[in-house]
Amino acid sequence: MNPIPIPAYVQALLDRLEAAGQEAWLVGGCVRDSLLGREPGDWDLCTAAIPQKVKAALGDMPTADVGISHGTVTALTAGGPVEITTYRREGAYSDHRRPDRVSFTQDIGEDLCRRDFTVNAMAYHPDRGLLDPFGGREDLSRRVLRCVGDPARRFQEDALRMLRCMRFAAVLGFQVEGLAQKALDQLSPLLAAVSRERARGELTRLLLGDYASQALALGWQAVRAVMPELPKRPAAFPPGIPGTLPARWARLLWPMPLGQAEAALEGLRFPHTSRREVLALLACRDEPLPMPPSRVKELLARLGPLFFQLVGLRLAGASPGEKAGLEAARAQAQALLDGGACLSLRNLAVTGHDLLALGCPPGPEVGRVLRALLGQVLSDALPNRREELLAYAVRLVRPGLLKAGRGDPA
Ligand code: ATP
Ligand code: MG
Repeated sequence: MNPIPIPAYVQALLDRLEAAGQEAWLVGGCVRDSLLGREPGDWDLCTAAIPQKVKAALGDMPTADVGISHGTVTALTAGGPVEITTYRREGAYSDHRRPDRVSFTQDIGEDLCRRDFTVNAMAYHPDRGLLDPFGGREDLSRRVLRCVGDPARRFQEDALRMLRCMRFAAVLGFQVEGLAQKALDQLSPLLAAVSRERARGELTRLLLGDYASQALALGWQAVRAVMPELPKRPAAFPPGIPGTLPARWARLLWPMPLGQAEAALEGLRFPHTSRREVLALLACRDEPLPMPPSRVKELLARLGPLFFQLVGLRLAGASPGEKAGLEAARAQAQALLDGGACLSLRNLAVTGHDLLALGCPPGPEVGRVLRALLGQVLSDALPNRREELLAYAVRLVRPGLLKAGRGDPA
């Protein structure tokens, strides 16, 4: 096997630990991804040393200690944070989420035992080579996800492992080994007990995977266990769906009424911004085609860069006629951006100061008049030029009209 190329900042940590007489290994995702020739997302180390000894071995290197009670010291290196976790064994699980207690061990074999899949249960050291007690390397070459130990027991211990299994299948394009698939089919309902945030994190990564369609098909009941609002049939992800969080989530929720989609996102405790983006895409999914130029402009103003994701979402699976309409809309939107079109208050040729100078009372009226002016520009009723806009604003600011809260002069 070719040696795994280890970044210098990670090698430096191995060196410091071993100089202090503490055994340490690279472990988990970074070993898996390196063997697959993929760039690891992060580099995790495990070690025989307890956290206090890890900190002592790191000397003057700053650390973050939030995970220290579980054995994790995070070294804040110049290359980025690296988690260093003491070898652990896990006690019994009674809530399908986390072990009742964890204890440290000196034996890396025990630590690898508690890991979820064979491909994630390998450790590597530049001198000692690969430690692979469960045949992870062979499973990598066969492109199979196999649990460490009995899948039913492992999924019962921590139900999130079922979503992790689907996530790895979606990202790596691997098959799920037969017994693990059977356990997934039977035990999906246990996912109702896992934290919504953890489930959302795994689902997002699954949806972003190149093989999301296959993964959803193999465990749709698991997804419905965390999002009961979803329809009975698995969502399809045809090629070409934009690879962004809002687009992928919008695709998952595509067939659902807006209110139900919102409830589903709330159920997973989505952060406000992402929720708003997903819902904005869904709200425009049925926009009639072809889109008139003024509508393209309005939607581009409303959605910003999301407009292009909307086009991408609708292009996937569109008829030739729809495709032509969508491509025309995309070209027009791009031309508007390239031409520096005014799409928001920021590039309106008139500012709040101009309105105050006209005699507009300070306060909410300023915003209201500015938005009315922008509306005129977006619908092409007025050009984005100072003189025309100010002339129009004078009529808007006339006393009486503003008080009545009207956006348009009589
Ligand atoms: P990535 O970093 O790409 O998400 P990863 O495999 O490193 O992939 P992490 O969530 O960072 O995934 O977990 C690191 C390692 O910890 C895994 O490779 C696996 O060995 C172990 N692990 C993580 N979560 C679990 C779990 N729920 N059950 C058992 N082992 C787990
Ligand atoms: Mg990782």
